[in-house]
Amino acid sequence: MFKFMKSKKGFSLVELMIVVVIMAILVAVAVPIYNSVTGKSRAKTCIDNQRQIISVISNDIMLNNRTNVTESFAVEYNGKEASYDDGSNTIYTEEYLGKLFQTIPYCPSDGSSISVSISGNSVTPTCTTMGDDSDNPHALNPDGSGSGS
Ligand SMILES: [Zn+2]
Repeated sequence: MFKFMKSKKGFSLVELMIVVVIMAILVAVAVPIYNSVTGKSRAKTCIDNQRQIISVISNDIMLNNRTNVTESFAVEYNGKEASYDDGSNTIYTEEYLGKLFQTIPYCPSDGSSISVSISGNSVTPTCTTMGDDSDNPHALNPDGSGSGS
């Protein structure tokens, strides 16, 4: 057996194919795990961002004694940058939010958007979880805990 191995030069086709098949199996196992981990991580970031939106805006409403605020806005993310739509807001305009937040918190999932509705003193963010991350919902539960973590 040893002699036989020693006399061979290089790898046989069968040996190379076995290596290729093993590598293909490893990739097939690793890629879904990687996607699931990064998807969960994006869901967690999104939920943390929604909590931050609630906390900062609620605080601003309280500090300024605002009453009967009825405004809404959306922050969209296209995979590269976040864009902001303030509709016809008079208080929570892009400029004002830029002062409240260093960066207006957005959902890190490509193509998703967080829409925020402010009514009275309650701030309600909702994320439209898209694409690969639809398995990991970005929804805040009523008690403020995340369902995606
Ligand atoms: Zn999200």
